[in-house]
Amino acid sequence: MTTIQTAKKTPITVAYGDGIGPEIMDATLRMILGAGAQLDIQRIEIGESVYKRGLGNGIEPASWDTLRRTKVFLKAPITTPQGGGFKSLNVTVRKTLGMYANVRPCASLHPYVATKHPNMDLVIVRENEEDVYGGIEHRQTDQVTQCLKLISRPASERIVRYAFEYARANKRKKVTCFTKDNIMKITDGLFHKVFDEIAQEYPDIENEHWIVDIGAAKLADTPETFDVLVMPNLYGDVLSDVAAQITGSVGLAGSANIGDHCSMFEAIHGSAPRRAGQNLANPSGLMHGALLMLTHIGQSEAAERVHNAWLRAIEDGVHTYDIYKAGTSKQKVGTSEFADAVVERLGEKPQHLKPVEYAKNVHMNIAARAAKPAQVKERAGVDLFIDLPATSPDALAERLRALAVPGTKLTVLSNRGTKVWPNGNPDTFCSDHWCARFESDGGTFAGRHVVQLLDAAVRAGLDVVKTEGLYTFDGTRGYSLAQGE
Ligand code: NAD
Repeated sequence: MTTIQTAKKTPITVAYGDGIGPEIMDATLRMILGAGAQLDIQRIEIGESVYKRGLGNGIEPASWDTLRRTKVFLKAPITTPQGGGFKSLNVTVRKTLGMYANVRPCASLHPYVATKHPNMDLVIVRENEEDVYGGIEHRQTDQVTQCLKLISRPASERIVRYAFEYARANKRKKVTCFTKDNIMKITDGLFHKVFDEIAQEYPDIENEHWIVDIGAAKLADTPETFDVLVMPNLYGDVLSDVAAQITGSVGLAGSANIGDHCSMFEAIHGSAPRRAGQNLANPSGLMHGALLMLTHIGQSEAAERVHNAWLRAIEDGVHTYDIYKAGTSKQKVGTSEFADAVVERLGEKPQHLKPVEYAKNVHMNIAARAAKPAQVKERAGVDLFIDLPATSPDALAERLRALAVPGTKLTVLSNRGTKVWPNGNPDTFCSDHWCARFESDGGTFAGRHVVQLLDAAVRAGLDVVKTEGLYTFDGTRGYSLAQGE
């Protein structure tokens, strides 16, 4: 008697989304299931219809259980209603389920898809949870608003390690880091420092760092000089769209949002409502998201089959409208016919483009290393931020010096980061948002000094909108100096 072995199906959650979502999801599933992907698909509803039912984050409470159970989410784009307190579903899902890494491969398909960068083949790994994306914002005075940028050592270590492990697992040769640590010496400085530390653990992989402005210029000009790139959230958000666009079309790229427990895979573009329901959209972006998903769940053979068949279809000139170009393209097709063309070519390889070979049984060791022992933290002073319109730096300094809390002294007054007292420059523009730095006048600067200063400031009629503690860590200053200090 013979027993037929059936491969175990991996449960995944699928959402068809809005606009072009249902069409490109149908096409994508046909391509990957045709290639032998073993999936147990559990469907959830997200997006416009859910928002319209009054659920402001675009997802039903019960869908969270499905996501937590399957741990893998293939998501078509959705339409986010404008304004009205609606939350971005993407950001909600990423943050709620701890998806710390965003991975976006961008490769050109020269000469079959028009691009100025024929040899581009890079992957952007972007920190996905912190930086300014905590969305911690405050309006503090009539004139001044602020957004808090948080960069932590654990999140920086995890994303940088992910980038190096990704490079090693995918036989890539170099990891490049972008930061702006010449200006943000403490936050971006930490990211860069962690990058340098972790790079030492991967001597087989070249590493380099660029200040993000010149790095971005190089990326747009000579993207073929990059391989894997890793960067904090905001730079990664902006530059991963640039990278996708310069390969030829944003309609081609997919992305993965990786977490320890749950991961989400999608196209990088949106729901393109004006193209919806016309069998026009290119399903390639979502398909690439699905290929990253198959690799993630250990089905890289199916991913490789689809990818090579897709390259063959592109090379044969079977193109959707967005990449169609008379002379290069042979056949302009719709979403569904494009999927048919890929399915017909399953098992084939491209003849001119380089066939892809997916790494098998990849193991990425992202486990956190033992935390460094905490450094000795000592209070060195306090910054009082004060809302005061129509004053001069000297007049405000006089009022602050009159607070006269024993053991403390006013050392500098700054306005939006620039020193304005002592010896300020009369040309410096001053807003209504001032920072008064108090440090020790000899002995230790204690917590009670902060309370006494606040109390004295309030009694003196000053509007203190926030305080920031000044600390040293193992004797190293953990706060910035004012510009010109
Ligand atoms: P979009 O990416 O949806 O579309 C911009 C243009 O790009 C389209 O008009 C179309 O010409 C082209 N395009 C996009 N995808 C294509 C494809 N697969 N094939 C062919 N052409 C394609 O951007 P948008 O118009 O700014 O946003 C539309 C909606 O999508 C908004 O509600 C937005 O909030 C949402 N959105 C969702 C996601 C997501 O769910 N991940 C991402 C971005 C935007």
